[in-house]
Amino acid sequence: MEKKILFPQIGGFVHGGDYNPEQWLDRPDILEQDVELMKKAGINSASVGIFSWSVLEPQEGRYDFDWLAQIIDRLYENGIYTVLATPSGARPAWLDAKYPEAMRVNQMGMREHHGGRHNHCMSSPVYREKVALIDRKLAERFGSHPGVIMYHISNEFSGECYCDHCITKFRKYLREKYDNDIEKLNRAWWTFFWSHRYNDFDQIEPPFVHGETSVMGLNLEWKRFTTWNTNDFMKAEADVLHSVTPHIPVTANLMRMFGGLDYRKMAPHMDVVSWDNYPPFHNDWETLEDTAFETAFQHALMRSLKRGVPFMMMESAPGLVNWQNVNKVKRPGIHRLACLQAVACGSDSVQYFQWRKGRGSYEQFHGAVVDHIGTDDTRIFREVAEVGELLRQIAPAAGTLVKTRAAMLFDWDNRWAIEDMQGLGRNTKKYEQTCIGIWKEFFRLGVDMDIVGSDEDLDCYDLVVAPMLYMLQPGTAQNLKAFVERGGQLLATYLCGYVDSEQLCYLGGFPGDGLKDLFGIVSEEIDSLYPTDRNGIALTEEALGRAAAPAQAGETPSRNGRTPRPRLRRTASRAAPHPQKKAEPAGRRHLRKKAEPTGQRHLRKAGPKPKGTGKYLTTRKSCGCRMPACSAPTPMTSTGAAPP
Ligand SMILES: [Zn+2]
Repeated sequence: MEKKILFPQIGGFVHGGDYNPEQWLDRPDILEQDVELMKKAGINSASVGIFSWSVLEPQEGRYDFDWLAQIIDRLYENGIYTVLATPSGARPAWLDAKYPEAMRVNQMGMREHHGGRHNHCMSSPVYREKVALIDRKLAERFGSHPGVIMYHISNEFSGECYCDHCITKFRKYLREKYDNDIEKLNRAWWTFFWSHRYNDFDQIEPPFVHGETSVMGLNLEWKRFTTWNTNDFMKAEADVLHSVTPHIPVTANLMRMFGGLDYRKMAPHMDVVSWDNYPPFHNDWETLEDTAFETAFQHALMRSLKRGVPFMMMESAPGLVNWQNVNKVKRPGIHRLACLQAVACGSDSVQYFQWRKGRGSYEQFHGAVVDHIGTDDTRIFREVAEVGELLRQIAPAAGTLVKTRAAMLFDWDNRWAIEDMQGLGRNTKKYEQTCIGIWKEFFRLGVDMDIVGSDEDLDCYDLVVAPMLYMLQPGTAQNLKAFVERGGQLLATYLCGYVDSEQLCYLGGFPGDGLKDLFGIVSEEIDSLYPTDRNGIALTEEALGRAAAPAQAGETPSRNGRTPRPRLRRTASRAAPHPQKKAEPAGRRHLRKKAEPTGQRHLRKAGPKPKGTGKYLTTRKSCGCRMPACSAPTPMTSTGAAPP
């Protein structure tokens, strides 16, 4: 079995989490107790320094790393390795007071005040300089420490800045993209509409909320630029660390299917992909099974960002979080389930936020391994310790790679374009939910799928699913055509192949760029549904019977000599007024709508679920995941049961 071992020092799975000793420097007794409790919980890693800048550099240019050195030493002496973070996720007060340009400007053009976190300008030269300085000093001080196994760059990158530095960089980015030819940009952005034509790149502003928001090309390029600029910031940090200690891998903790950044552009610049996993367990809008399915989707997305390297679950809540509307504690056993799910999906770590609850401020009630009671005698602690023991038992599985034979296409560009498209149901397009809904239906059948970009190599897959592939990147159509020509099965849906990467509609019929020939169809019309509308296709019993079984002796063939195809019967396209409609409050209907993603509903309406040998042949072979005990059914191929 192919393996990629991330941390040979650990010899198994990473089990640890965010550790904030800087909050307890006046309590050496607690710092000593931390290590003893970590050993009891089977912890072998601690992520330190994530928000420690104001303690690491209490005044400009005066660095104090000795306390951190003691912590890293103590951890290492007790068999616990360190994931060392750069502190760029939040700034010390002295920095903002002296260099206000480090603070972000919002979409109204207003400079933000000091406070919070992740609100710095990625373009600010002085902020980049200060970050590079402290990163270099940290790497020089701790890079040769045998206990330091990884760098954790900043924390949960996010957000946009509309300051003058960023606007200048945006214009430079556009000049390079459009070969310094403003007419090329005008054509790409279709700016002759509403007289939006630009004469010069210096006239272009980002999409301020009270400014230009009606040019789709501008909106999309701003999002692409924000990813480019954030990536550039992250790479600058990684370059400093690699220049001092090239042997230590770097990561940046991502946030599931986050909408603000194209993670696929960022993943190549980190050695390992990691993400923070906070499923809304026990919510009131879906079943626990559905929560778990969606979590598996998010794991698959992260796994697929860097194929060939295990990912890490850098954060998860041992008990509950503090930032949802209702913060539910995990019921007994759910913690173990969630941790082993991460491992089965390809994670080589189970890490938490946070190790110990602080006494005050924003995260004082966020779940932790060690609660305010301060002992190991809690249910949460015992469950964490149980996971530590389980991870020790399955240590040989660390480094193994999850291999799938199916993939789903998911592009951030496509997502942004669909969101911004002015048409169809403004609030019911639901690209993400559709992807997740379809992915779930396959997963229920035992088909695990990678989630890849439309321009990625598809040679290792037998099945590719392309939900709502509205935007085609250059080469996507050719990629799909080549995939089908070599025998791959391609499944697409409505809203396929409408615009190119500039969001210009294809002429000559949808799906464009040659896909209408590949699929053998032209989409002439597209409609939208009100929430109460129902529209679907049903297979008749007669048709199903004929499709599921091979032609019997004596069966009458059709006039062309082939077995008759299943006949489709279209159901009502507009539901009659629902008898409960008047009696049902609008809020309740809304909840129902949210509970049922479009894609899932679409699939459900497409026909009865296959049973037995209907649509898929299954076997009890391993499903392809890394868990030795797993014997989930694996579809090997599809029969001809489905209508062509
Ligand atoms: Zn800025």
